[in-house]
Amino acid sequence: MGICDENDRYSHNDWLVIMINVKSIHELDVKGKKVLCRFDFNVPIKEGVIEDDRRLREALPTIQYLIEKGAKIIMTSHLGRPKGKRTKELTLLPVAKKLSELLGKEVKFVDEVVGDKVTREVEGLGNGELLLLENVRFHPGEEANDPEFAGELASPASVYVNDAFGTAHRKHTSTYGVAKIIKEKAAGFLMEKEIKNLSKLRENPLSPFTLILGGAKLKTKIPVIKDLASLVDNLLVGGGMAFSFLYKKGIDVGDSLLDESLFDDIDNLFPIIRDNDVNLLMPLDVVIAKEIKEGVENKVVPVESIPEGWKGVDIGPITIEEFRRVIIESKTLFWNGPMGVFEIHPFDKGTREIAISIGEATKNGAITVVGGGDTDKAIEESGVELTHLSTGGGASLKFLSGEEMPAISVLGEGV
Ligand code: AMP
Repeated sequence: MGICDENDRYSHNDWLVIMINVKSIHELDVKGKKVLCRFDFNVPIKEGVIEDDRRLREALPTIQYLIEKGAKIIMTSHLGRPKGKRTKELTLLPVAKKLSELLGKEVKFVDEVVGDKVTREVEGLGNGELLLLENVRFHPGEEANDPEFAGELASPASVYVNDAFGTAHRKHTSTYGVAKIIKEKAAGFLMEKEIKNLSKLRENPLSPFTLILGGAKLKTKIPVIKDLASLVDNLLVGGGMAFSFLYKKGIDVGDSLLDESLFDDIDNLFPIIRDNDVNLLMPLDVVIAKEIKEGVENKVVPVESIPEGWKGVDIGPITIEEFRRVIIESKTLFWNGPMGVFEIHPFDKGTREIAISIGEATKNGAITVVGGGDTDKAIEESGVELTHLSTGGGASLKFLSGEEMPAISVLGEGV
């Protein structure tokens, strides 16, 4: 049996059909075997200190299971964007230390990705022991999905497990190339949890279904709107991306963020939103400032009244209230992207208030899913309950857009 049974599958998504063949790690025989595991240990690290270890904690069920089953565990992950070069600040050594602490067990670390040193360390592994390889993106072959590098990385292992949902939309060596080589493979528990929870949004979601999008990158969000339009009842747009929408509705948004390259896409989106009877809510009032930095003068104005030289940096109180009203009445909810420049206080207010309203919706029985990335902090600091907080911002958007996730579909190939 695969991780997604026949009843779970989406007929309109070919790759989900492939997913039916994806094994769960319960189905693998790993005792005494060398298991190459791809995790998403891409955590924020400042001067060697991990600032948020959520992604490490989320990986623990898979690691602990493999320890209990007596696997020889070779862990690989990326950290940041070193672009194929060894970068001191992006070493995974602090991750090895933190994982040791979380597991109460030694996690060996090797400062190479492949090669003799790695081979020696792998040969020294006993059953249930762990080795973390250096940042896989230090190797130029990783992002290029280089077949030679894939051969080297895969060579010590007879089993492959991918638990890195955050990079499941990437066709890289450690997420894809090695899975082409190693026949015995499966999705880890986190990958499984992510797929199951995100699938709830696509498969007969309860109505009213509210999609909340914010942040700066409009490009990654347009496909989600298009693909979910037929399922969604309400679309709440905030953050920097809202200003391109407002501008296309004829509103002068002053110096606010605009993405002119996507204006045509927005024009094409409006009829889709209208034809699918989606209730589109855009900011009614905004917090404005002349500069995006701490301590600057700011004020709340109606969106139609943003003066020249000022930019929108957060949603205003009337918008917060309006969004809240829709959110707490929703039965299904997905949120990706902050409502404002939440890194700077007090422009984090809109994002925090939305997090609190989503928590209320969860208490009211709604399925609430938040798509990782920047909104994590607001969710965690507000202490709100959710159905699911995804570890993958970009990956969850791709998943919901119905795009193929190469690292998942490859797990179902050749098994
Ligand atoms: P994204 O990766 O697309 O979710 O964008 C996240 C970024 O959007 C954060 O760094 C926010 O500071 C930024 N952002 C949110 N609202 C605004 C805004 N009104 N103007 C400029 N940037 C914004």
